[in-house]
Amino acid sequence: MGHNHILIVDDNESIHEDIETILSNSSGDSDPELQQIEDDLFSDMSEHKEEAVAQVDYEIDHAYQGEEAVDMVAEAQEKNNPYSLVFMDIRMPPGIDGIQAIKKIWENYPYTEVVICTAYSDYSLDEIIQNLGTTDKLLFIKKPFDATALKQMALTQTTKWQLQQETISYTEKLEEKVNERTKQLNKSVEKYKKMKEKAEEASATKSIFLANMSHEIRTPMNGVIGMNDLLMETDLDEEQKELSQLVKRSAESLLRVINDILDFSKIEAGKMEIEKIPFNIRDVVKEVVEIITFSSDEKGLDISYTVDDDIPQKLLGDPTRLRQILLNYGSNAVKFTEEGYVSFNVELIKSEAKENLVQFSVVDTGTGISEEKQTDIFGSFSQADSSTTRKFGGTGLGLAICRQLAELMDGEVGVESELGEGSTFYCTVPLQEVEDQQEDEEAPDKEDSDELSIFPEELHVLVAEDNKINQMVATKILEKEGMNIDIVETGREAVDAVDKKDYAFVLMDIQMPEMDGYEATEKIREKEKETGNHLPIIALTASAMEEDRQLCLDAGMDDYVPKPIDKQELMRVLKEIVVNNSNHRISSN
Ligand code: ADP
Repeated sequence: MGHNHILIVDDNESIHEDIETILSNSSGDSDPELQQIEDDLFSDMSEHKEEAVAQVDYEIDHAYQGEEAVDMVAEAQEKNNPYSLVFMDIRMPPGIDGIQAIKKIWENYPYTEVVICTAYSDYSLDEIIQNLGTTDKLLFIKKPFDATALKQMALTQTTKWQLQQETISYTEKLEEKVNERTKQLNKSVEKYKKMKEKAEEASATKSIFLANMSHEIRTPMNGVIGMNDLLMETDLDEEQKELSQLVKRSAESLLRVINDILDFSKIEAGKMEIEKIPFNIRDVVKEVVEIITFSSDEKGLDISYTVDDDIPQKLLGDPTRLRQILLNYGSNAVKFTEEGYVSFNVELIKSEAKENLVQFSVVDTGTGISEEKQTDIFGSFSQADSSTTRKFGGTGLGLAICRQLAELMDGEVGVESELGEGSTFYCTVPLQEVEDQQEDEEAPDKEDSDELSIFPEELHVLVAEDNKINQMVATKILEKEGMNIDIVETGREAVDAVDKKDYAFVLMDIQMPEMDGYEATEKIREKEKETGNHLPIIALTASAMEEDRQLCLDAGMDDYVPKPIDKQELMRVLKEIVVNNSNHRISSN
């Protein structure tokens, strides 16, 4: 793009001639004064020096009116040969004057350099600036012209214009590059978003898979554990007793693994709920120590515990999850300790207002863990030694679950250990102290939950369950309580049976042919809207996921019992639902 395209605007032809003569003369009879100026001006700009010192060939156009000048500027721009400099007269009647013409030119081409050629009688400098604003694109030269000054102006202003154009195109290119980069970045962001969505989808699929798998495993486990329990209540010789004891232990340990996997997947899916209820830490520790003492009996370890006296009697938190962490630490300690002791300690680390920081630690004198292995021992599927699986079993999920549970409670876990000396596993959690009234509300519940049910009369109950073995397990348990049992195998049969007979309650399997437990329950509840009765319905569910339980309650069931059916758990639920329900009916009659 040439930078030497100049427009002269004046209504006086002789001015055109003057300017053109001065500019075209620029190198012919080399003016030493100008040469000096050129040298001074461009001595730093080696790139432009040659150009500047050399003959400058200006391409000069002429306009005689303001409007004409505005049009010519636009035209030159369109032809991609813009004017770098315009010499502008002020008074050019008729039509717009030079100031208005400059205004118009700058509206569209703000970079155009302008030299105003004035005589004394024209606008004052202040007036011009008022009209055009302060700008660095404007110079003045007075008529009659000083040749050197004019040449110098033409040279510096056209060069300035050129430099500015270069800057602009450089900036544009830079912007283009930035845009290109931004586009690429956006594409990457999109890509990562999609990857994240896919990962989340995969994780959700995994949780569903795990829930389904647990269902599939728990159902036959129901049969194994239930039938084995029944078997153990029959007349067995010593060998048979031992074998069925082995079956029981294996089944229970399999159930523990399934529970671990379930807990882990629940936490991963963000479905693990942490409770905040009043509890006494001493009860929790005592209970854990009892279980651990019982299970470590044959090893002859010394199992003990201490609880800091300063710890308040009632704290707010999740005793089930704390018990789970302590049991995990405790059973690991017993597993990896051949002689010596395992001790449980609960200490108050900090107490401010009602907020307590409580630290649980389990110390053992077992194998210990090398420093290297300690670093990732709380990660999932991590076992300090790969031979561990063979020797001790386990999934490597226990400590990962402990850590995640502690974190869900805003706490943390840790370990200190020395190979061959023993280990100390920590868990520190903040626990609030409970106000006195809350404590009282909790208390009465506890006592009567220990005492097991005596049902009021011979009850007629309905078991809706298609699996023969589960039918048998449920029947045996309920018969022992003196109940009278009817069995159906589909949801539809359950709805019909309830229509024909008054039952004290229904044990309702969820997955049955023809009509599932949810639908059957909904149908029964629908009919009850007319009669005003309420038949207790207890779901039998092998799904341990919280959502499935919620689905049971949403369908109108009163409670649920997980499979494999645990007798104590079933009795607890029955007592709560059936006894309370009949009391309620009696008192409201
Ligand atoms: P696992 O189900 O395999 O026991 P955990 O997550 O509970 O899984 O434990 C992971 C590993 O940490 C164990 O396999 C064992 O190597 C090591 N470990 C845990 N507790 C102890 C301990 N008290 N003493 C020595 N090693 C331990």
